[in-house]
This record gives sequence, C-alpha cells and structure tokens, in this order.
Amino acid sequence: MMDRAKESRAVKEALLLADIPARLMNIQVGHGRGTAWGWLHIRFDIYHAPGCYCVITPNMPRETCQPCKDLWQECRRTAYPIVRAASGRDNYGMENVNISPGFIE
Ligand SMILES: [Zn+2]
Repeated sequence: MMDRAKESRAVKEALLLADIPARLMNIQVGHGRGTAWGWLHIRFDIYHAPGCYCVITPNMPRETCQPCKDLWQECRRTAYPIVRAASGRDNYGMENVNISPGFIE
C-alpha cells in the first residue's frame, strides 16, 4: 500500500482537480489510527443544490431536500473512482475508504 502521507496528498490533489458536479470545499483527507490504521477518511463540503428547499430549523436535524440528496450522492459516486485511481487501492483497499460529503450551511 502507498505511504500514508503520499496517499493523502495524492487523493487531495486529485479531488482538487476532479470533475465532480459540485465545487468541493474544505477537502480533508486523513488516515485512521490504531486498529483503523489502513482507513482513509475523506471529507469535503459542497453548497446546497440549485433549487434547494431543505428545511433547516435551529436545534433540529436538517430535512435534506431531494436535489441536495441527489447532488450529495452524485458527488460521492463520482469521487469514488477518483480516490481509487489516486490511491492505487484495489477493491479490498477501497473497503476501508470513507467518503463523507457535508453541506456548507
Ligand atoms: Zn437542499
């Protein structure tokens, strides 16, 4: 497996250049610790989708609208092969990859 620091850098750079249906903000790439040593955690934020009608109530979980759900899924789906190519991970290695998009509120 690729050196961890190298892998983080390669994945972050690939995501910065990636053709993903939203602009990725606050990209963070890091590895797990201890027994989760081989895990790769990827977080990034996206803006809400055009035509967003999410219901955001203070102190309540957000009710995410369908356009935002679709955009979230699409970003995750398109990021996956980019992460795979940049990291050089095989299917087994990709089982330890977590891609968590978030929204900029
Ligand atoms: Zn929305």
